[in-house]
Amino acid sequence: MRRPVIAGNWKMHMELDEVTNYASRFGKAISDVKDRDIIICPPFIYLRTLIEALQGTPVSIGAQMMYWEDKGAYTGEISGPMLRSIGVEYVIIGHSERRQFFGETDATVNRRVKAALRNHINPILCVGETLKQREASETFEVIDRQLTQGLEGLELKPTESIIVAYEPVWAIGTGKTATPGIAQEVHERIRNVLSSILGAKASGEIRVLYGGSVKPDNIDELMRQKDIDGALVGGASLDPDSFERIVRYKE
Ligand code: PEP
Repeated sequence: MRRPVIAGNWKMHMELDEVTNYASRFGKAISDVKDRDIIICPPFIYLRTLIEALQGTPVSIGAQMMYWEDKGAYTGEISGPMLRSIGVEYVIIGHSERRQFFGETDATVNRRVKAALRNHINPILCVGETLKQREASETFEVIDRQLTQGLEGLELKPTESIIVAYEPVWAIGTGKTATPGIAQEVHERIRNVLSSILGAKASGEIRVLYGGSVKPDNIDELMRQKDIDGALVGGASLDPDSFERIVRYKE
């Protein structure tokens, strides 16, 4: 049985007073949740604030990306050792917005995944097809390539784990959610591809999240699918009440 994960991706939202208000409200609201992992991924500048404000609650903190070198002359970048030194436990890698607007490729994704693991940070690797690719029946081909190249040369040690998030690009921030049936079909494919890359045991343990317009009113049905182990939530994670409802999905 894989432990469920609900992760919020705040993207480039929130100012400092909103962050501190959110943390005090949300931290209290979910203090009794024990049977699932809860992660919030804020912009870099709020990581430390949230780690301190949510200490002693069930919430872990993740970054939205990281650079693959550990240190050096890379102005503006943030490295794994820096994130780890302030208590960051997760990092989103290969989000479609990074691929679309900032030149992220499967090769750079691969370097970041390896750097995260080397620094004891759990990568949340995002994969997903565009609408054009889905309409051309290329979904599985795209997912297979993103996983194979993104995880190339990776051998997970027993203490290491990754999370995969299936985020169809056409469902992100659009209000269009993949039907639970569509999501389950791709999640099953992801599980099979992971098995061929990393072996059946690792594949059976990897949590595969769904992301794309997850809301309080669709989370319950999504979570009932066999291969959906959680959700990566953008817009609906910005409101502590709706994110709490998603965290408290009903099985
Ligand atoms: C995301 O950014 O990962 C995401 C899934 O966004 P949204 O929930 O807003 O579609």
